[in-house]
Amino acid sequence: MTQPDKLLFQTIQIGPLSLSNRIIMGSMHTGLDHSNAPFNRLAAFYQERAQGGVALMVTGGVSPNETGRLSPGAMILDNPKQIASYKKITQAVHAANSKIILQILHAGRYAKQPNLVAPSAIRSPINKFSPTEMTQDEILQTIDDYVRCATLAQQAGFDGIEILGSEGYLLNEFTAPRTNQRSDKWGGSFENRIRFPLEIIQAIRQKMGNSFFIQFRMSVLDLVDNGWTIHEAIKFAQALESSGINLINTGIGWHEASIPTISMSVPRGAFSWATAKIKQAVNIPVAAANRINTVDVAEGILQRGEADMLYMSRPFLADPDFVNKAQQAQVEDINVCIACNQSCLDNLFSHKTVSCLVNPRACHETFYPKQQQTQKIQKIAVIGAGPAGLSFSIKAAEQGHKVTLFEASSTIGGQLLLARKVPDKEEFDELLRYFQVMLKKHSVNLQLNCRVDTKHLANEDYDAIVLASGVKPKTIELQGVQHNKVLNYEQAFNKPERIGRQVIILGAGGIGFDMAEFLTHPQNIYNPVESFNLNWGIDSDEHQSGALSPQLTKTHQVPRKVTLLQRKEGRFGRTLGKTTGWIQQLELQKRGIKMLAGVTYIKIDDEGLHIEQDGKHQVLAAEHIILCTGQRSEDALVTSLKGLTAKFYQIGGVNKAAGLDAAQAIREGTDLAYSLVQ
Ligand code: SF4
Repeated sequence: MTQPDKLLFQTIQIGPLSLSNRIIMGSMHTGLDHSNAPFNRLAAFYQERAQGGVALMVTGGVSPNETGRLSPGAMILDNPKQIASYKKITQAVHAANSKIILQILHAGRYAKQPNLVAPSAIRSPINKFSPTEMTQDEILQTIDDYVRCATLAQQAGFDGIEILGSEGYLLNEFTAPRTNQRSDKWGGSFENRIRFPLEIIQAIRQKMGNSFFIQFRMSVLDLVDNGWTIHEAIKFAQALESSGINLINTGIGWHEASIPTISMSVPRGAFSWATAKIKQAVNIPVAAANRINTVDVAEGILQRGEADMLYMSRPFLADPDFVNKAQQAQVEDINVCIACNQSCLDNLFSHKTVSCLVNPRACHETFYPKQQQTQKIQKIAVIGAGPAGLSFSIKAAEQGHKVTLFEASSTIGGQLLLARKVPDKEEFDELLRYFQVMLKKHSVNLQLNCRVDTKHLANEDYDAIVLASGVKPKTIELQGVQHNKVLNYEQAFNKPERIGRQVIILGAGGIGFDMAEFLTHPQNIYNPVESFNLNWGIDSDEHQSGALSPQLTKTHQVPRKVTLLQRKEGRFGRTLGKTTGWIQQLELQKRGIKMLAGVTYIKIDDEGLHIEQDGKHQVLAAEHIILCTGQRSEDALVTSLKGLTAKFYQIGGVNKAAGLDAAQAIREGTDLAYSLVQ
């Protein structure tokens, strides 16, 4: 069954491009440019998404010249010799009947290399390198470089280009007073600040003609001090239309903004209201972006007339077949991007190849075949339906094995069931839903409320047993730790109603931070987007610089007074996600959570927690003390299972509890399944 009534699947003609649906796969940095055989891997990555029904896709950012490279070795297109490599991508996409455009990205002052340039010599707070101010000659040369890049892109078979003018990269640096303090014709007035991007477009149009597709990603909300106003963004959109742009794509927030724009804490579709302001002001198609991860959210934006197209990136890491599944009314089969950033952006910022927590195949298509059937079917028992056991069971069953999954509790999910309770992490529900659907689809024999024993396993004559029994909260050696005011994190997540108003959390790792958020979740949440905007100081008034409120209003009253303690000296949050940890830290600060580092725990008694800090003894009163002091492997079955004749494997937390997260558990499950194909 197809979905002809949905606006998402209406065809559209945009300039020279005839598109079969309204979804653009957005630009993503994959980190594959730093791998061996990058273009082969990129071709496989894009081809799989093209086969999945994407009408139009955009490459990761490609620099038009050396100074614009994001980092040494990052993608560049400045020489005809590179055409053959890029052709691998375009041919792979065209073979799958899709279209692909090249994103031209000049990193400006975000370039992580020493030869960086910017409109003015002002260092970005998120880059250790300082830029030099571009001379007039360098500006003119850069315009030529954009034209050369667009020409080479066309010769390499791309269906057009996207010019990146948002997120605080070079063109955005020219348009914002924050970074453009020039006094020549390229700075100062609004007309001067927008001159550089407009001249680039004009020069490309002049060279390539009107039949060449050009999309521009502009910044609607800068979300930084001294950024431009929404009013200026609207005027710029109108100038883009006059300059002959075919489609306007709307970017939200600079990378250095202290406001989250794509993390799980951002409500779905949170910025479509800003895109709507651009759409109302122009007559060319406009695309909405950021936190659009489900068919319903995407369709809603189109139905409300806020945009003509959806620009979705990470959802295609999570599920390359998103469009086909949506079009064929198999929405339940979609593996939804949960906006965790754990395996995509966090990997990228750790100089690793990007992947996806919910889909470890992403960007590894050449290593994990998409559909692979085993010739030797095994009868496999899996113990534990947490993320490792689930991912293994589903993949192994899909590959043809006969899988029985035993779970001692009444539901699947393991630690995911706790994660989903953290406010703003409800997206984990989507992963649990997907696992449920896939267990059924691939006929995994799920046995809930079943504490399996070795006798049963021996009698059933399994070929392989996979132990995925996960982790349990770790306790600590401390006098009074048995006091009735002490709870472990599992007890606290499961019974928050029993927790008093004054709480101490021991341990400031990921679980400690999650617990602090959980216990202080504000009571006065109403409309999620309005609440988000109020909380982070986003102002829809068209004349506020950077779309920031002049004064941040304190919006939330928190239900508990929480103190977070860590034994280590120094900064809190060092183990949090690279791209999301700062958000959690800011959120806890706003909620007035007290944080004490370098603490020695002495004992717990009726008075509270006795500690020593900086050589001083003190007692912290608390109604409850919650242990977030790590996890231990749930390995009670290991020895007995090893004694059976079946082949024995351990995956996930039972292998190694320290530092384990859902991404690793799911990857281990997937890896093991692939290794059992014969
Ligand atoms: Fe989405 Fe998380 Fe996958 Fe990134 S790692 S694509 S945020 S689900």
